[in-house]
Amino acid sequence: MTEPTPGGDGVPIPVGVIDAHTHAFPAEVIARRAATAAAEPWFAALYGNGRAVLASADDVLRSMDGAGVARSVVCGFPWRDLGRCRAHNDDLAAAAMASGGRLAWLATVPPAAGPAAAAEADRAFALGAAGVGELNGDAQGFDLCRRGDLADLAECCVAAGRPVLVHASESVGHGYPGKGTATPEKLLAFVAAFPALRVVFAHWGGGLPFYELMPEVRLACVNVAYDTGASTYLYRPAVFRTVVDLVGADRVLWGSDYPVLRQDRFLRRTLAAGLTEPELEAVLGGSARRVYGLPPLSTEVAQVGDHGPGAVGRP
Ligand SMILES: [Zn+2]
Repeated sequence: MTEPTPGGDGVPIPVGVIDAHTHAFPAEVIARRAATAAAEPWFAALYGNGRAVLASADDVLRSMDGAGVARSVVCGFPWRDLGRCRAHNDDLAAAAMASGGRLAWLATVPPAAGPAAAAEADRAFALGAAGVGELNGDAQGFDLCRRGDLADLAECCVAAGRPVLVHASESVGHGYPGKGTATPEKLLAFVAAFPALRVVFAHWGGGLPFYELMPEVRLACVNVAYDTGASTYLYRPAVFRTVVDLVGADRVLWGSDYPVLRQDRFLRRTLAAGLTEPELEAVLGGSARRVYGLPPLSTEVAQVGDHGPGAVGRP
């Protein structure tokens, strides 16, 4: 089912598109950029120069209106400080509540805080968080290969049946601000340590899908999905066809990493990337609904009745 592009360029946009990876900041952080940068080195590296865009939840909603995106999953920022995570989680909870179901959100916690991180994740789930993320070891001072750094949080997420979104990056290719060192071998050590945890690796898993041609890697990644965050800056459009062929459309979640990529332009690029209509239904919404357990919007009832979460993907 499609409707005309809001921009009027004639490209049909599917109904119920979900952007599974966006970022929004509270007004106080946007207003106090310099002070925040002084306290959080990773934030300083990405946003210290003042030119990088800091989006609010309202900016996300406006972008969605312009792009024809029905829902977005909003992440905060991988703060080191638990208090800053808590304030950001409260802000996202309020924004989601006010959005009439258009915004879902993920909680940020610093995993190395152990029981305190797990407690904050539990508090966020009670406030409506769909999962935890985007976690980032370089930003938050934990090691994906050190089981003890993540055990409390992972066990809490498994018990709650919630997924974790983890930043991932390539062990080869160009450098960029925020790339970090969450490369495929570390991601694999992480999933091996917590086989029952549902995981989404951002940014096409730093190339981990390509290694799923190896049977043992495939087996280790049964609970792993990948999002397409910032794809245009990293890969040619052929990455869509290639990764869907490697792991299946039900394990690929369309995400822009907004405001890194514009939702409208990236959506049009994705529609032209050579996926079939059933594959697009999964990548542009079905996979995210299943992985993040998102309830249907009332406007999607007709579509969900035909192709709902139970009909797309593996259990
Ligand atoms: Zn990321």
